[in-house]
Amino acid sequence: MHGRPRAGPVPEGAAVTQPLFGATIAGSLPKPAWLSETDKLWPQWRAEGAELARAKADATLLWVKVQEDAGLDVIGDGEQSRQHFVHGFLELVDGIDFEHKVAMGIRNDRYEAMVPQVVAPLALRGRVHDVEAQLLRAHTERRTKFTLPGPMTIVDTVADRFYGDRVAMAMAFADLLNTEALALQADGIDVIQFDEPAFNVYLADAADWGVQALERATRGLTCTTAVHICYGYGIKANDDWKDTLGQEWRQYEQVLPAIAASGIDQVSLERYHSRVPPELMALLDGKDVMVGVIDVASDEVETPEQVAETIAETLAYVPAERLLPSTNCGLAPMDRTVAERKLRALGEGAALARARQKMSA
Ligand code: ZN
Repeated sequence: MHGRPRAGPVPEGAAVTQPLFGATIAGSLPKPAWLSETDKLWPQWRAEGAELARAKADATLLWVKVQEDAGLDVIGDGEQSRQHFVHGFLELVDGIDFEHKVAMGIRNDRYEAMVPQVVAPLALRGRVHDVEAQLLRAHTERRTKFTLPGPMTIVDTVADRFYGDRVAMAMAFADLLNTEALALQADGIDVIQFDEPAFNVYLADAADWGVQALERATRGLTCTTAVHICYGYGIKANDDWKDTLGQEWRQYEQVLPAIAASGIDQVSLERYHSRVPPELMALLDGKDVMVGVIDVASDEVETPEQVAETIAETLAYVPAERLLPSTNCGLAPMDRTVAERKLRALGEGAALARARQKMSA
């Protein structure tokens, strides 16, 4: 009923089967109140040192269990060990000044964030996510997914005082990401996903060098690779921005052909309560599509029936064996109880759709 039970890395060349409509999360999950501030994108930790490390591990294990109980097939760490999905990676990179953050408009000035500055050549100080990746791998028999920020989105979330060239800096970040991604693969992670919300903001650049940088970050990977592009979390700045985009969100039309031509295996897109025309998914012929069937911008919990219906409607554009139900985006800023209920709806809705598909086959 779930993914093939297994432990440890898949031997090279082994076929990895995925169940029909295998469900997964986009990436982040809310942090418990004892780990950090809640309902914030850049929360402050509640502890430090060894106590903080213990709390991060506890929260990761808790969410592994919740995802399994919800019936999800590909399990993530819920990004419990990083303050923010971009800055968690940057904390282990030399050449970045975290002491002197500056205010910068990010995502084409959609919102202002305090960002660190790149002041010297970039280099990794060591492993970034080894602890949580190995913890995840050791505590579930199901397939695992790990998320990293994409090079273009990183470039859009730091202030450059050194490279003077966005493309050169993106390629430098891509090399660091590649080093960590290869290590995550060696840890036994099955799916490595890069988060590129910047891809629907800088459309021409994304189709040009954004996808090239992404491919550079995945060089040499034999595990499944994925990219998540999205219209963002359910925070006010995003809701206001979405209001300016009109009735049909066709931004992906410019980016998806470049992704389709790349070596990336899976693409994550919003579907439920999204104004992205579903026919755009046809541009991803040959890719697995992680279809967002859970709205992250509303506390209203979907029913399994609604999830199954969204999956059924999407079958007009994505073949069943390539359709992976998911959340529209990360659930980080959401209430924990609401997030737990949404995960259950996702798992139960996917199971319902699977049962109906088998009956009709
Ligand atoms: Zn997202």
